[in-house]
Amino acid sequence: YHAKSRKQGIAVFEPELNRRHHERFQLGSSLRRALALSELEVHYQPLVGLQNRVIVGVEALVRWRHPSQGWVPPEQFIPIAEEIGVISEIGEWVLRTACTQGKAWIQGGHPDIRMAVNVSAPQFDSPIFVEMVERCLRETGFPAAQLELELTERVVMRNAESSVAQMQRLRDLGVSLAIDDFGTGYSSLSCLARLPINILKIDRSFVTGLTRTSPGHAIVGAVVGLATSLGFQTVAEGIETLDELKILQELGCHLGQGYFLAGVCVARDVFITAF
Ligand code: C2E
Ligand code: MG
Ligand code: MG
Ligand code: MG
Repeated sequence: YHAKSRKQGIAVFEPELNRRHHERFQLGSSLRRALALSELEVHYQPLVGLQNRVIVGVEALVRWRHPSQGWVPPEQFIPIAEEIGVISEIGEWVLRTACTQGKAWIQGGHPDIRMAVNVSAPQFDSPIFVEMVERCLRETGFPAAQLELELTERVVMRNAESSVAQMQRLRDLGVSLAIDDFGTGYSSLSCLARLPINILKIDRSFVTGLTRTSPGHAIVGAVVGLATSLGFQTVAEGIETLDELKILQELGCHLGQGYFLAGVCVARDVFITAF
């Protein structure tokens, strides 16, 4: 409708806002069909041991191949999926796809491969989330001990009794829990110590441009030191240069990911990436 057709009241017409709403609406309705039409894909980025540079696992990252708009990045469609209530469906599909792929890699000669899967806040909050994870593991045969669920700092740090209980139920299944993009939100290490989390992923913003003299050096060093003494495994995100890799190795960071180690590869290419 047009604003001018309104008889009274506030008649605000903002073309830009309207266009964005329209775009979101359209993206939302095509997202509902994307699953059924299998326009979604999961790509896998290697998770590499920084001390010995061995691939220990992968992180599953969802991609949407939109029929007319090309690749839509997750940062664009995940928030829309949350808003229109299809995030659980997408999340379940990603988890099932990743576990099926992981099981195939296990059978293909990589028995210890770890699989990390991102979980969004509303997905985690679903009362049937734990059941869904359990069912995926059972039906795909992927070992719980090799699955890592990556939670956002916001979910982990809101410190609600119900979410802590939910995390504990997942740990009881044998699943690992990681806090993703650590350092971008409001985490405190003292708070982390009380939560059933066992992996800490240091956000890319602390890794980019890391040198031995930059202020980030002290921050990353302190985070790795404290996290390690609290019993967490640390993962550095977004390693793009050999220097960053070496420094993180010196600082005792356990694992790393990033374009320097290997880009985000399609499934079949993960194990033939040389570095
Ligand atoms: P994330 O979990 O922190 O994933 C890391 C992101 O950094 C990925 O972007 C990855 O492609 C990118 N990246 C990896 N190495 C490098 C590097 O060396 N340099 C740079 N500049 N970037 C690097 P992507 O795939 O676009 O995903 C963005 C975010 O979307 C993810 O951040 C995650 O929060 C979310 N996401 C991805 N897949 C899923 C999913 O299946 N479910 C949910 N809920 N969220 C997802
Ligand atoms: Mg992640
Ligand atoms: Mg991350
Ligand atoms: Mg990140």
